[in-house]
This record gives sequence, structure tokens and C-alpha cells, in this order.
Amino acid sequence: MTGLDTLRPRLPSPVQELSDPRFARHGLGLLLKRDDLIHPDLVGNKWRKLAPNLQAAAGRTLVTFGGAYSNHLRATAAAGRLLGLPTVGVVRGQELAGRPLNPSLARCAADGMRLHFVDRSTYRRKTEPDTLARVLDAVGAPEAYVVPEGGSNAAAVRGCRALGEELGGHADVVGIACGTGGTLAGLAAGLPPGRRALGIPVLKGGFLTAETRRLQEEAFGGPRGSWHLDDRFHFGGYARVPAALDAFAEDFEQRHGVPVERLYVAKLLYGLVALAEEGAFARGTTVAAVVTGRPFPQAPSTASR
Ligand SMILES: *Cc1c(COP(=O)(O)O)cnc(C)c1O
Repeated sequence: MTGLDTLRPRLPSPVQELSDPRFARHGLGLLLKRDDLIHPDLVGNKWRKLAPNLQAAAGRTLVTFGGAYSNHLRATAAAGRLLGLPTVGVVRGQELAGRPLNPSLARCAADGMRLHFVDRSTYRRKTEPDTLARVLDAVGAPEAYVVPEGGSNAAAVRGCRALGEELGGHADVVGIACGTGGTLAGLAAGLPPGRRALGIPVLKGGFLTAETRRLQEEAFGGPRGSWHLDDRFHFGGYARVPAALDAFAEDFEQRHGVPVERLYVAKLLYGLVALAEEGAFARGTTVAAVVTGRPFPQAPSTASR
């Protein structure tokens, strides 16, 4: 172990039953899978994806990639601080270098992550061996353990199987917001037969079916479980949060007392409500929504576990 167990993650994460008339009047049950409560700093699916990679890194410098507001970068930086592991974040956008850090990157830096800004064309080519070697050289960590953007590699996908296993006895359909598709790929593999996963992409582009298949191939050697995507709820693309979505999320928070992260979780919940009202689920179905994250910046945590 790398000391991960000493961080005392709350696993399996809690399952919470909600009473919501938008589901109840269609004969549907609604559950929340509270992955946002797994750990105060390594939130949600980021714990599930990072844990196996932190083990594999075995103390080596961990280099990973992200945009200026990446939840994955923040989680990686926090893991570095908690485990005493050096981390480097390669950030998209040369123009950000020398500017004041935004709150997300400031948190990364405060957690000891070294930030390295690259131009967009280098960032796009980051998985090409030459480009990667040059970046690792530039950050002085040629022997680093590299985790891809968004944290989705085979180890991460396998780590997300547990999410499906934990939910298998509770829900018929499990909804999950998707960025890279890694969490969906693992979740679907962990669900027992007869249960299915429903992915709501938060990015525009329609590339995610192929990418999720590719990740399952890489992690398991072939397709696993039953899953599909509904591409109608990205609201224009990543980090687009129109007023209507914000109002929906605020209303959900007020109804249920659960903080709703806007970039992913709000789009998932909006999509599930829309599908329920369209009659997309048979009466008697129990739908679970995975709460994969928490709003950021968040109020200072007073919770002590
Ligand atoms: C990263 C993230 C996701 C997306 O996970 P993928 O495995 O990349 O699809 C979903 N929700 C939240 C809150 C996230 O931070």
C-alpha cells in the first residue's frame, strides 16, 4: 500500500433515497450514490480512479494533465500532499503562465503540485511519445509515472468497477455524468447482469461511445456490461452552465439539501429528470444518480470524520 488506507476513505460510499415527485409520479425510485462523501479532498470518482494509480506510482513523481479548472488536477495535487508524493500538473494554455493562478490552480499549487504550462498544440499532442518525452524532460522528471488527462487509464477504469458492484443490489439504472468516459466504462463492468448504466456526456462532440469502448478494451480486453449514452444534456459543452441549468441545480439543492456540482452533476440530474418525465424508464424502475463531485470553490470544510 501507499498509505491510501490511512486516509480512511468512506467506502462503500453512502446510498441515499430521495423522495422526488418528478420520479414518484412515474412510479420511479430515485437514489443518490454519494461518491462526493468518499474523502474531503479526493472527491468522488477521482478517488476511485486515482487510488490504483497512486499505488502503481509507488512513490515516483506523478505527472498528469488538465485544463485550468480540472477537478482531476486538484484531486491529484491533494493526493500528493496527503501521501507525500511529488506531483506535476501539465496545464493547457501557455498564456496562463505568469498570470495570477485561478482558484483551482492556486489550490493545486498550495498542495505542492508543480505547474507546467504548455501551448495548445503541445497539449493536443501530449500522448505522442516524442511530445511526452519532451514535456517530461522539461519538468525534470523523465522517470515519472504518467497519468493521462482526466485520469482515465486501464487502472482507473478497473478501479471504477467497485462503483457498479456497490450499486448492483440497489438500482436498475445508474446514471453518471461523463467527461472522458472512464468512470462509465468501469461502472458498467461492475454492474451485475440485468442492470444498466446511462452516461450523460458533459462535452459536445459525440466521441464518447468510441472512447468508452476503447477504455473497456484497454482495461478488460473487450466490452463489459450494459451501457449507453444520451447526448442531449451537455448544454453547449464543457463548463457551459446556462441560467436554466443553474436554476435547476439550485432548486434541486433546496428540495433535497444536497450540494450540486454544476459542470457534471447538474447536467446528470437534469437529464435524469427529463428522461423520467419523457417516460423513458418503465414503472417500478429504481434510478440511481452518482454524485461524482462537489461544488468548487467550496466553503471551508468543518466536517471531521
Ligand atoms: C471528472 C469528473 C467526472 C467525469 O469522469 P470521467 O471518468 O472522466 O468520465 C464526472 N463528474 C465529476 C464531478 C468529475 O469531477
